[in-house]
Amino acid sequence: SDSHFPVPVSPSRFDLSGHYPQFFPSYDQVDCSKKIRFADIGCGFGGLLISLATLFPETLMIGMEIRDKVTEYVKERILALRMTNPGQYQNISVVRTNSMKYIPNYFEKGQLLKMFFLFPDPHFKEKNHRRRVISPHLLDEYAYVLGIGGIIYTITDVEELGDWMKACLANHPMFEALTREELEVDPVVKLLNSATEEGQKVARNGGQTFQAVYRRIVPSVC
Ligand code: SAM
Repeated sequence: SDSHFPVPVSPSRFDLSGHYPQFFPSYDQVDCSKKIRFADIGCGFGGLLISLATLFPETLMIGMEIRDKVTEYVKERILALRMTNPGQYQNISVVRTNSMKYIPNYFEKGQLLKMFFLFPDPHFKEKNHRRRVISPHLLDEYAYVLGIGGIIYTITDVEELGDWMKACLANHPMFEALTREELEVDPVVKLLNSATEEGQKVARNGGQTFQAVYRRIVPSVC
């Protein structure tokens, strides 16, 4: 249950020095301008973070994962990469949390540039749709923590869930779809399948994937 992991009472109380020691050598040397900008929600085994780490070496990123053992595995994986590649992988970390409950405890308004929801659990039954990680209500929260122009990336191999995520995003006044041209030039889009453990599994089995990539906008006034 949630009582097994600590949750910061507010984003300013989220201690980054333990997560990114090279960026914050001590607790009192925390540079307030340096903030987490990318969040991988339900990061699983951390493949996406590891690929993004070297693509955006100055950007702080965090994976959020609810399973204890999986979180510990990702922590160890990152520490091992830091040891074998001095100076690299200092910008990624992971936290054990329930992202459906605590996003506003970790990020302040407009802080994030990218949020990832890659191969989330489908929760097929209608009565369980409220447990889906993309929903109209949770999109309000994501719109709050994303800066204007920030991007939400979603992908799944479950067509019904893909349609659901796209519909939630399309119907939300604070998001608009990226154009085909924008998707083609965004280097991150290519990683959604290739860098994630789930994406690799789907590719091995010759499965199809369904993505929806949307930008946080200022809603137009009618
Ligand atoms: N994104 C990874 C990938 O593409 O390889 C993992 C996908 S896996 C199917 C979904 C992950 O979301 C699981 O690791 C699960 O533990 C995590 N998860 C589910 N609900 C969560 C929640 N409320 N908060 C944080 N993580 C959650």
